[in-house]
Amino acid sequence: RDLPGDPEIVNFRRQVKSACFSRVKPKKAANPELVAYSKEAALLLGLSEKSCRSTLFTDVFSGNRLLSGMEPYATCYGGHQFGNWAGQLGDGRAINLGEIIGNSAKKGSGNGTNRWVIQLKGAGPTPYSRNADGLAVLRSSLREFLCSEAMHHLGIPTTRALSLILTGDTVIRDMFYDGHPKEEQGAVVCRLAPSFTRFGNFEIHASRGETEILRKLVDYTIMVDFPEIVSGRSDSPEIGAERRDFSESEVDASREYFSGTDAGRKGFTNTPKSLYTKALYIEWFNDVCRRTADLIAQWMGVGFVHGVMNTDNMSILGLTIDYGPYGWLDNYDPDWTPNTTDAQGRRYRFGNQMNIAQWNLAQLANAIYPLIGEVEPLEKAIYAYSSWFEKSWQKMVAAKLGFKKYESSDDMALFRDLFGILSLVETDMTIFFRKLGDYQPGSGFSTFMDAYYAPEQLTADYKDRLEHWLASYAGRISRDDLEHDERRRRMNCANPKYVLRNYLAQMAIDKAEGGDFSMVHKLLEVLRNPFSEQPENEIFAVKRPEWARHRPGCSMLSCSS
Ligand code: AMP
Ligand code: MG
Ligand code: MG
Repeated sequence: RDLPGDPEIVNFRRQVKSACFSRVKPKKAANPELVAYSKEAALLLGLSEKSCRSTLFTDVFSGNRLLSGMEPYATCYGGHQFGNWAGQLGDGRAINLGEIIGNSAKKGSGNGTNRWVIQLKGAGPTPYSRNADGLAVLRSSLREFLCSEAMHHLGIPTTRALSLILTGDTVIRDMFYDGHPKEEQGAVVCRLAPSFTRFGNFEIHASRGETEILRKLVDYTIMVDFPEIVSGRSDSPEIGAERRDFSESEVDASREYFSGTDAGRKGFTNTPKSLYTKALYIEWFNDVCRRTADLIAQWMGVGFVHGVMNTDNMSILGLTIDYGPYGWLDNYDPDWTPNTTDAQGRRYRFGNQMNIAQWNLAQLANAIYPLIGEVEPLEKAIYAYSSWFEKSWQKMVAAKLGFKKYESSDDMALFRDLFGILSLVETDMTIFFRKLGDYQPGSGFSTFMDAYYAPEQLTADYKDRLEHWLASYAGRISRDDLEHDERRRRMNCANPKYVLRNYLAQMAIDKAEGGDFSMVHKLLEVLRNPFSEQPENEIFAVKRPEWARHRPGCSMLSCSS
């Protein structure tokens, strides 16, 4: 009640100083209707499919009904948007209902923990909503719902999506089709993650000189979300190298908090000063750099372009977060960005994502600097990011090409040559790599016909180049001594057959806006097994049709959501 963010004292849109969050109640939805739920995400909360189909489920996850123990709040964050500090800007439309810890939640949240924060996106205004409505429309919510789960099934760290619910309310948006305000259907996505904390949550306090709050948030994050660092179980050998021993009380404080006991919580709250040493903060920052590097390599391996890598959209846990104007490369083009707002600068283009992530990490380093007071260790971590990215990327390259392991820079050179060839003519990245698994020495470039957007335009020169590359590739794989079937099996685990192509999402949206949710359900099902052959679902694995080339939503998207 004495929190600066408490609505019972001050509940209006404003700059919320000296607080990490504000308590806020979700807006009541006029007529909530369940569009879809993810049965796998539901299991994380211990919910059966039957529960997901109940009225109670729709009521709770639309924000219409609070269960006992839920104390909803919205967090405060700022961010660097397109390279510029933008001050306090979020969270204007995400409300955390609470957390599930322990037995009622299934293990596997990605950070070795057993804890899920339940968050509604689009459930109404908060003190952070600035001049916006706190709502979300069906089209963007559907994209977030499907892509979160698709990402998870691809094995890429991500926030999860439990449900997609129509609110029954109308939302006004300035649409990109004609620039005129348009009435759209409102929707709420329930997201799950061990933590939704972003780089921007730290930046906002640093920018205001709120060092003690910053320290508290960092301590909280380390204790709750990085227990393996505190207990010395970090699986990162680079990070563990200079480990010191942590005191028993540090470890206990973490464990107790973590197990959700009151003693643990009090232990945290009553800590007046820093809970951890400078060395541990540095170790933590290194871990964030490492996770981020790994995430970006994984995105790039499947041709994913986030589209808005502002620091407020960067998860401290290295999860994919905030599915806005994201996209998948259809034809391989490293300069492609799905975001119309980014069409000029192309800051967030496919091939720049590793650099932008590093820039974002540098902003996080600036933010936590007051707790560390030394530039060098932070700089070192930011340099180390490059080598972590390189390592993750090497692994990715080896997997995509079907090598037993990454051997030398010759492997990387081979991969680079291939990307060079893929950009010569419009070549579908997903299909090409999938077909590469079928390739056998001697079978020639015809293996890849399905991947070309204009196969009739392939020149003799192009074919020569590809054949030349295939010959080098054949030489490299022959040294690995893997049976063809075994190599293909391995490659099919790294090169997905099914990704959420932009035009597929748009088709699902067009249908859903007319009340037909069948394609949402179908895509959810197909994308559950992105690496498997699904003969009955081949239609979802073909290249982007011509009609979709320039259609809004199928190629590029605005941030309107
Ligand atoms: P984004 O560019 O989508 O990541 O949005 C940046 C921030 O703007 C989010 O974190 C939200 O807090 C806020 N925001 C976006 N859309 C809305 C909305 N309709 N109502 C309130 N806040 C919004
Ligand atoms: Mg965002
Ligand atoms: Mg967004």
